[in-house]
Amino acid sequence: MQFSVINRQQEIEQAIEETFDLCIIGGGITGVGIALDAIARGLTVVLLEMQDFAEGTSSRSTKLVHGGLRYLKQFEIKEVAELGRERAIVYENGPHVTTPVWMLLPFHKGGSFGKYTTALGLKIYDILARVKKDEHRFMLSKEATIEQEPLIKQPDLIGSGVYVEYRTDDARLTIEVTKAAKERGAYMFNYMKALSIRKVNFTFFQVGAEDQLTGKKHIFRAKKVVNATGPWVDQVRALDSKIAGKHLILSKGVHIVFDASKFPLKQAIYFDTEDGRMVFAIPRQGKTYVGTTDTFYEGDPGDVRAEQSDINYLLKAIKFMFPNIEVGAEHIESTWAGVRPLIHEEGKGPSEISRKDEIWQSESGVITIAGGKLTGYRKMAEKIVDLVVEQLEKEEKCRYRPCTTKRIPISGGDLSGSKYFDAYVQRSVEKGLKAGLTKEQSIHLVKLYGTNIDHVLSFIGQAERLPMTLFAQLYYGIYFESVAKPTDFFIRRTGALFFNMPTVEAYKEAVVNEMQRILSWSESQREQYRKELEQAIQVAKVN
Ligand SMILES: Cc1cc2nc3c(=O)[nH]c(=O)nc-3n(C[C@H](O)[C@H](O)[C@H](O)COP(=O)(O)OP(=O)(O)OC[C@H]3O[C@@H](n4cnc5c(N)ncnc54)[C@H](O)[C@@H]3O)c2cc1C
Repeated sequence: MQFSVINRQQEIEQAIEETFDLCIIGGGITGVGIALDAIARGLTVVLLEMQDFAEGTSSRSTKLVHGGLRYLKQFEIKEVAELGRERAIVYENGPHVTTPVWMLLPFHKGGSFGKYTTALGLKIYDILARVKKDEHRFMLSKEATIEQEPLIKQPDLIGSGVYVEYRTDDARLTIEVTKAAKERGAYMFNYMKALSIRKVNFTFFQVGAEDQLTGKKHIFRAKKVVNATGPWVDQVRALDSKIAGKHLILSKGVHIVFDASKFPLKQAIYFDTEDGRMVFAIPRQGKTYVGTTDTFYEGDPGDVRAEQSDINYLLKAIKFMFPNIEVGAEHIESTWAGVRPLIHEEGKGPSEISRKDEIWQSESGVITIAGGKLTGYRKMAEKIVDLVVEQLEKEEKCRYRPCTTKRIPISGGDLSGSKYFDAYVQRSVEKGLKAGLTKEQSIHLVKLYGTNIDHVLSFIGQAERLPMTLFAQLYYGIYFESVAKPTDFFIRRTGALFFNMPTVEAYKEAVVNEMQRILSWSESQREQYRKELEQAIQVAKVN
């Protein structure tokens, strides 16, 4: 099904004629997860996102679907159990965006964990998170740890624990959930900013919004409104009523990316820093990324970026655990920064505040959800839609289906389970070869797009000014993934701005030109979008 800014105006015109059961404000993982759950239960749904889908926190995480091992330290047992179970579900429903990776947890003399506490902690984690048998933790001696990852600090090393984390692409996870909701009939608009919320005759809401691509104003009507705007929830709560009770506090997290030739990490590692926090170093696509920081943030969530102090902190952490690695700020290829929407807890530091989600309901009935994790998005959505459905059923004397998202594949995950994914990749390689791609290119694309690969491959062969794969990805992005701007393509559909900056530099002009042609941009639009891309490149680079 096409999902394109080309059809946007027509879809907006249809949407403003309807009174939806549910209007969701915010197109990060929380909002799009709610949209999928709601549409699958039979509600009519419109979602408004003021930037691109996932442009908020949901493209700026550590990119792990994880059980939250760290929360064991804070005895958040229920949290770990729930996240662990959700992790398995996220994987089953979208094996193309989630990959299990073995994570090394080294321990040194004087560190926060020893051999027995690590072994016990990981064992409890296996049980709580119901980790599959073949993914149960195991322990390594000092020698085996060094063999596994020779870059680790060797003095005082005692050994390590090894457990499984699931690596993901947060923005692609969000877009695949968005597409799944769209495929089932939800109206999903990026670049549509909610500016006002008004309850009319005690019966329905009017949400005033501005199209950020055209400047046109629209009013969307819905019986229920959910505010899922992550770091912006307090701002959107204020559109409806005075903020009372709990409020948000933001914590900033930064990641930095090196080329593997500068930081040749073989093995993903979760390691201690000097100040007692823990940081990830993860190899990915010929790069190594390291993060995150965790500091309170009071600025605009839409303008968060890596500052020198963040870079220094992470470089110091690298030096502490990998003393033989000679990397400095000049070797950083790219960075990203995001803010965690946390629920304020008096007297607690950023790393101590719980990551649990919280739900508020205003006097007029607007429901707000914030906090939580990428990993727990489906469960958060279930809670919210349960609440919406309960109210609608009472008010309208009707019945909706129960939550079924546990078994709904996200777009590209139509496989009846993760165990079929490897065979699917093999079969699709043949198709890629037939379309003129190399084996590596075919594997790359099918792992990115899963069962949507045929659509992507259908654009191959039309390549002119761009490499075949990039051309196909661009066309697929514009026609099936609502790509409106070059930044959408290079950041949130391909991840190239984080993990393949040379490709961005080499083809940015060609992509802008191609997009101008397909989307009939005026010269001034072209210039504006080109500048936005240049600015995003500058923000990502530190040099
Ligand atoms: C550094 C860092 C690392 C993390 N690592 C992990 C991890 O590895 N694993 C994990 O599970 N979780 C992780 N998290 C947490 C996870 O990223 C977040 O919980 C999740 O992305 C929040 O999603 P969200 O949809 O609630 O918010 P967002 O993704 O921020 O979405 C909210 C959206 O609302 C939109 N919006 C705001 N105002 C309006 C308006 N007026 N009208 C329309 N739209 C509006 C914004 O543009 C935004 O896109 C991490 C977070 C950070 C910051």
